[in-house]
Amino acid sequence: MTDIATRTQDILERLGAGDPFTPDGDLVSRSPIDGSELGRLRSHTAAEASDVIGRAQQAFEQWRTVPAPVRGQYVRELGNLLREHKDDLGALVSIEAGKIVSEGLGEVQEMIDICDLAVGLSRQLHGLTIATERPGHRMMEQWHPLGVVGVISAFNFPVAVWSWNAALAFVCGDAVVWKPSEKTLLTALACQALAAEAGRRAGVPEGLSAVLVGDRTVGEVLVDDPRVPLVSATGSTRMGKEVAPRVAARLGRSLLELGGNNAAIVAPSADLELAVRGIVFSAVGTAGQRCTSLRRVIVHESIKDDLVARLKAAYETLSIGSPLESSTLVGPLIDESAYAGFEKAVAQAQSDGGELVTGGTQAEVEGDGFYVRPAIIDMPKQSDIVKAETFAPLLYVLTYTELDEALALHNEVAQGLSSAIFTLDVREAETFMSVVGSDCGIANVNIGTSGAEIGGAFGGEKETGGGRESGSDAWRSYMRRATNTVNYSTELPLAQGVEFG
Ligand code: NAD
Repeated sequence: MTDIATRTQDILERLGAGDPFTPDGDLVSRSPIDGSELGRLRSHTAAEASDVIGRAQQAFEQWRTVPAPVRGQYVRELGNLLREHKDDLGALVSIEAGKIVSEGLGEVQEMIDICDLAVGLSRQLHGLTIATERPGHRMMEQWHPLGVVGVISAFNFPVAVWSWNAALAFVCGDAVVWKPSEKTLLTALACQALAAEAGRRAGVPEGLSAVLVGDRTVGEVLVDDPRVPLVSATGSTRMGKEVAPRVAARLGRSLLELGGNNAAIVAPSADLELAVRGIVFSAVGTAGQRCTSLRRVIVHESIKDDLVARLKAAYETLSIGSPLESSTLVGPLIDESAYAGFEKAVAQAQSDGGELVTGGTQAEVEGDGFYVRPAIIDMPKQSDIVKAETFAPLLYVLTYTELDEALALHNEVAQGLSSAIFTLDVREAETFMSVVGSDCGIANVNIGTSGAEIGGAFGGEKETGGGRESGSDAWRSYMRRATNTVNYSTELPLAQGVEFG
């Protein structure tokens, strides 16, 4: 057994997940750090998955009657356990998803933050009281629990995405059945162990939180089951295009968080030092494997050479290697297919006339992991490869003369998740955030595209899927709205002045 495998087993033990491995399991769990096998797990069959959904449905029927502020106590317990186990869960994220230590811990912090938000929210699930046209009447809306929420998640945020959904869903009175990525099952089982412990402490019904182990076929059980009124799916646009019509075919709801192709405009007035820091973190953080990773820089022609030279210099000092080393800034890609995608995109961009400024090759790191030197490619135009999301640290540079041109390039892609402008000109900043500016769900000024806080609604437009999770009023997606009109008079006036009889 490798050191990483031993460490993984110790962590799973401490998190209460025991030994989840079965030697004849059909799924192999690997660490991208060195490609080593951590163990094998067995997928749920479709019949088992259906039973899990059935138990969640029963749990929901009890849970929905618990007052929301009392439901909040469950999420408080979960948040407390996450605080207690932050180091272990963060390390497991590093081992399984390849994130550097600080980003693994950051992901767990995000879970703690959303639990805090949800606990507060449990006393704020409010509807409106609306003026009625009829005397002696009152009209109001109530938000009721929805049912079993199916959560499908991607490998790159193996724990935070579940918590964004689950913390809100639990206080909203729902049950959650989670189908995590088949590439990051251990972190999911660890979260489920913590959720189960929180459930024991708070006395919640059995089966309120459950995990389904398996690949997309197990995800499809959730997608097709009419007992699941909401499917919240995070992953590639390809996946969303398969999931959404299937959920729609049974008139269920889906909340989609799909791919991004995020850009930053760098205007002539930009604070270049700050812009370089923002760009580098967004483009190479998590080895370019965030949905919000920066993939395109659209820079004004007057400062292009200066910006590109500064970015090149910054890229060439990046430490690439095991994410468990405290000095590392760029860890591995998740697997060989991610590496192949990177290599192919670098070659395609060059054949489209792009000039490789730096990186673009494999980095030698001990073991069988897939590490790359983050690439910058100066493009003569926005060719098809630039318009596609390559899930790796690959940054294209495009040049503009007038802001309108930059905005057109910015919005020309199919995805609409995150965006940024670096400028000190208030007209440019406001235009970028206005209706004629960025068409994304997130539009930042003097900040990179990644690293959102949980207080805001998170998500994007167009092929990113249109869903919103996390803060603001995103909780409404996890509830159903009832409009109630109450007549406290002795008359029965009809709306719109209708006379009847
Ligand atoms: P993926 O689409 O390959 O898989 C995501 C999940 O969907 C997995 O659990 C997978 O098993 C499941 N799945 C795939 N096809 C399915 C189907 N037909 N029915 C049911 N389930 C199915 O994505 P990935 O490679 O794990 O993650 C990377 C992608 O996720 C990138 O495109 C990234 O931008 C996106 N992402 C988006 C957000 C966001 O919030 N917008 C966040 C994280 C990742």
